[in-house]
Amino acid sequence: MSELTEYCTAEQYLGKATMEKITSLAKRRGFVFQSSEIYGGQSGAWDYGPLGIELKNRIAGEWWKEMTRLHDNIVGLDAAILMHPRTWEASGHVENFTDPLVDCKKCKSRFRADMIPEENITSKKCPDCGGELTDTRKFNLMFKSNIGAAEDTASTIYLRPETAQGIYVNYKNIIQSNRMKIPFGIAQIGKAFRNEIVTKNFIFRTCEFEQMEMQYFVKPGTDEEWFNEWKKQRWAYYEKLGVKMDHLRWHQHGPDELAHYAKDAYDIQYLFPMGWRELEGVHNRTDYDLGRHSQFSGKDMQYIDQDNNNERYIPYIIETSAGLTRNVLMILCDAYDEEKVADKGDADDIRTVLRFHPALAPVTVAILPLMKKDGLAELAHDIRKELQDDYATDYDQSGAIGRRYRRQDEAGTPFCVTVDYQSKEDGTVTLRFRDSMEQIRVPRAELAVKLKQEIKSYKRIK
Ligand code: ATP
Repeated sequence: MSELTEYCTAEQYLGKATMEKITSLAKRRGFVFQSSEIYGGQSGAWDYGPLGIELKNRIAGEWWKEMTRLHDNIVGLDAAILMHPRTWEASGHVENFTDPLVDCKKCKSRFRADMIPEENITSKKCPDCGGELTDTRKFNLMFKSNIGAAEDTASTIYLRPETAQGIYVNYKNIIQSNRMKIPFGIAQIGKAFRNEIVTKNFIFRTCEFEQMEMQYFVKPGTDEEWFNEWKKQRWAYYEKLGVKMDHLRWHQHGPDELAHYAKDAYDIQYLFPMGWRELEGVHNRTDYDLGRHSQFSGKDMQYIDQDNNNERYIPYIIETSAGLTRNVLMILCDAYDEEKVADKGDADDIRTVLRFHPALAPVTVAILPLMKKDGLAELAHDIRKELQDDYATDYDQSGAIGRRYRRQDEAGTPFCVTVDYQSKEDGTVTLRFRDSMEQIRVPRAELAVKLKQEIKSYKRIK
């Protein structure tokens, strides 16, 4: 979809995040680093640090639970990134997976023609330096390489530009091995690669990224009903994760956006600091994909309905396709908040807090001994051990307790447990809540259960 379709004004954007703040926090706290930074960086690629990998894994885990465990008829798959090159002929990617490209002859900048104002294309004037632009030409986004020793055309191989095709080519295997009956779904999370002409906005658009896709196989004629059902379910999913729902909206593909094979397509867009942008697509892909693979492979891709007089048909596919790494950016922006908590007139007046849903937070509970001495550190280590099996924990004993709370707020840790002198006497600890900053005393023995209840009943308050 064109980046120019919809921008929001600063007034419309009510979040406190800016891309600069998110990028700098991500680096400072170890969420995301620039790839190969010591060599000047590799554009279009990012590395996920200790907090980032935890966040990414939690988002992937919640999606996986939602799309597989909570459904009796959806199973998982992990297909290879490298696929037979005919796959990409059948899918249409070799021929059509292109973006319109123009270059500036003077400053050598490169643009996606649909991302710069129309008048620059007609006047052939570079939006950066006013120099002359080349004619628009098609640029295929697939990364091409060679497999095997011989560098001839027979050994051409592509890095997959989407995970979906791995699902389509395994559809028969899965029906047979798992006795699936239509309607059923196959879910997959994995890397995809696109040689994007313009990569910007941090991890929003990158050359190497991850997708979370589910392909739902249905009987033709029931496709519209399932399409609406999946739209409903995907919307409810973001609501369950506590995402600000006024930052989400549907965008229906118009005639010039709709893929030629698609019957209908909607994007879920999120209001990022740079405007409304696609987060996930829900598409009715008809019988195009299985029909094409049938044609190109010579294998019969029809479903045989044994419960219905062996009726045969090529299923329609309803696809839900979300970017995992784009979801990481969305969750970071959505969670980001700055809050005035004091009036001393210094930098400490404002706390930065990531209001992650506890199910997504990289660290669920941090254990903080008030002092290192008098056995408090040992007690805190013991408590951490008790919680470690069920929760992602952190331990921090350095600095004033207020500073330590702030560090955890900035990492999005929803709960802190403080161990003090009273803990030694009566076995209670202080449980501090990130969002409200409220503190309560809880018997150590009840801590694990209390945390479980708090996570289950979590409601975002800001
Ligand atoms: P866009 O319009 O943003 O280029 P698209 O319509 O080409 O996306 P799809 O092919 O439908 O995207 O891919 C499904 C999802 O994969 C997108 O909604 C997005 O979240 C994610 N995605 C696609 N391309 C990228 C990319 N280059 N970097 C990160 N995520 C991506």
